[in-house]
Amino acid sequence: MEGTSCIELSQDALKNNFNYLYGLVGDACRVSHVVKGNAYGHGIESFVPLARKLGAKHFSTFDAREAERVHTCVQGALPIMIMGLLENDQLAWAIEKGIEFFVFEMSRLKKAVQVAEKQGRKAKIHLEMETGMNRTGFEREALRELVAYLKKHHAQIELKGLCTHYAGAESIANFLRVEEQYGAFEAARKELKKQGIEAEKNHTACSAATIRLPKTRMDMVRIGILQYGFWPSRETYITTVLPKDLKNEDPLKRVISWKSRIMSVKTVQQGKYIGYGTSYLANTDIKIATVPVGYGHGFSRSLSNQGRVLVRGKRVPVIGTVNMNSITLDVSDLDNVEKGDEVVLIGKQGDMEITVSSFSEFSDQLNYELLTRLPSGIKRKIVD
Ligand SMILES: *Cc1c(COP(=O)(O)O)cnc(C)c1O
Repeated sequence: MEGTSCIELSQDALKNNFNYLYGLVGDACRVSHVVKGNAYGHGIESFVPLARKLGAKHFSTFDAREAERVHTCVQGALPIMIMGLLENDQLAWAIEKGIEFFVFEMSRLKKAVQVAEKQGRKAKIHLEMETGMNRTGFEREALRELVAYLKKHHAQIELKGLCTHYAGAESIANFLRVEEQYGAFEAARKELKKQGIEAEKNHTACSAATIRLPKTRMDMVRIGILQYGFWPSRETYITTVLPKDLKNEDPLKRVISWKSRIMSVKTVQQGKYIGYGTSYLANTDIKIATVPVGYGHGFSRSLSNQGRVLVRGKRVPVIGTVNMNSITLDVSDLDNVEKGDEVVLIGKQGDMEITVSSFSEFSDQLNYELLTRLPSGIKRKIVD
C-alpha cells in the first residue's frame, strides 16, 4: 500500500448501479454522470475512465478545473457539462473544447457570445431557470430580454439544454416546494417555446427527483450520489425500495472501500488514559492497535470514542480521540492481531460491513460530505 491508506473502487458494484439506473430511466432519457467533488471522493481520474468503460455517455462537474480533468480522461470524446463556476478567463478554453456549461445570468451569456464569435464557434449552453431554489438561474421577468438576445445571437449559441435544480427532493418535507418548482419550470419552458426557443434537452432531476418524481426526468437526469451506490437519504430508500421489497434487499452496491493497515499493537494497563487528554480510561488491561489514518485524512474527529472499523472480520471500536494522523482501536477481543493486518474503515471484510451511512450517524456528516472530504491524495485502485 502506497501511503497510509488506500481507496478501492469496485467495478462490479458500479456496473450493478449503472444497470439499475439505466433500467430505471429507460433508453430515451440520457444520464449525465455527476463527478463534482472529485467524483464524490471516488477520484475523477479513476472513476471517469471506469464509468466510460461501463457505458457512461455524459459527465457533469461543478467547475472548469474539474471539467478539464474529465476532458483529459475522456480525451474529448464525450460531452462534459459545467453546472457551476466558469470564470470569464476560462470561457475561451471551454468554448474551444466544446464543453457545455450552465448560463444563469445575462452577463455570462453576453461574454460567452463574444468569445464564441471571436472563435467562429458556437457556445454550447444550458439555460438555468430560477424556479424556487433561489441559488442561481434566470428569473421569470428576465425571459423577455433573454429571448430577444438569444434570437439576435443564434449564430453563436447552441442551446443544449434548459434546466433547473430542486431544493431538496430527497425529503418529503419539501414536497410542495419541489412540485411548485416543477410547475414553474414547465411554465418557463412553455413560454420560451411559444417564443420559438426550444432546447435540445430539458433536464431538472438529481438522484432523489429521478427516484421519487418520475415526471421530472424529462430528456436527461443528472445523477450523482446514486451511481456510487448511496441513497440520497434514508427516506428515499424507505419510500421507494421497501414497499416493493420487504426483504430489504438494496438494489444498489457501494463502489467505494477505504482500507488501511495496523501499524502497531500493544497492551495498556488498567487505570491508564489512552491518547490525548482523559477521554478514554482503560477499565481493564486492554490490547490496543494504532492505525495511520486520522482527521487529516478525512476520518472525522467527531468519531472519537464513537467510530467502528473492521479487523480480522470483526467490528472493533475507536477509543480515545481521533488524532491528525492516527486512531487507536481496542482489539482486546481479537485473539491474534498483528502489525500489518488489514483495517477496513469503509466497506466489507468477511461478512461484516462498515457503511458510509453508519459514519454519518456517529459523526453528523451527510454521505455526501464524508465522501467528498476524502483527500484526493489517497491512492485509488480499481478492483473487480
Ligand atoms: C450535485 C448536483 C446534482 C446531483 O445530485 P445527486 O443528489 O448527487 O444526484 C444534480 N444537479 C446539480 C445542479 C447538482 O449540483
